Amino acid sequence: MRLIIFGPPGAGKGTQAGLLEERHGITQISTGDILREAMAQETELGQKAKSYIDAGELVPDALVRDLAEQAIADEGHDDFMLDGYPRTDQQAEWLTEFLASNETPLDGVLSMKVPDDVLVRRLSRRRVHEETGETYHLDHDPPPEDVDPDLIVQRSDDEPETIQNRLDVYREETALLATYYEERDLLVPVDGTGGIEEVFGRIEEALDALER
Ligand code: AMP
Repeated sequence: MRLIIFGPPGAGKGTQAGLLEERHGITQISTGDILREAMAQETELGQKAKSYIDAGELVPDALVRDLAEQAIADEGHDDFMLDGYPRTDQQAEWLTEFLASNETPLDGVLSMKVPDDVLVRRLSRRRVHEETGETYHLDHDPPPEDVDPDLIVQRSDDEPETIQNRLDVYREETALLATYYEERDLLVPVDGTGGIEEVFGRIEEALDALER
């Protein structure tokens, strides 16, 4: 299936997309992960993206377009879940054109619904493993004891001020895309509150309904 997982930062998009890849073989394509990897490798792309990411701003559209389209093409145009792309009107238009030119339209856009106070709590308590990229939550899903605590870090854009900026940017630039996909009859709301498995169960139900 060709899917987007859509929603604000902290909605659990990465976690759920990761599970979907693990259990259903639908490849997660996360523009944020690709950019963070480029930053870690200090590539030209990473250097260009760093100041935007650290400030919680969006990276310019043209920079992410190529990497999203390349990742979809590498995947063979089927069975992918975009996580964190598109984020602007322009990106959504480009994506629609790109998929249409390959005659591989989207099957659905899962829209994760989570109240603001929960988002802030999830993001501020989120930690990542510096080397594996594995994500943890200090309260609900803490790092196992055999993991070296020095490797457990906070994402630079999960600091309180940056979190607020990312939520503002989401509201101003990205949230409206829900209407874009609703008009195309692709939007499927999913309650993103509660535990990881509980939310995953709802995602599986939504996918069953899309397949019918
Ligand atoms: P994420 O991991 O999806 O929360 O993305 C982390 C950061 O990467 C965002 O705050 C942006 O700075 C940047 N980024 C990721 N995807 C995009 C995108 N589609 N458009 C613009 N910036 C992006």
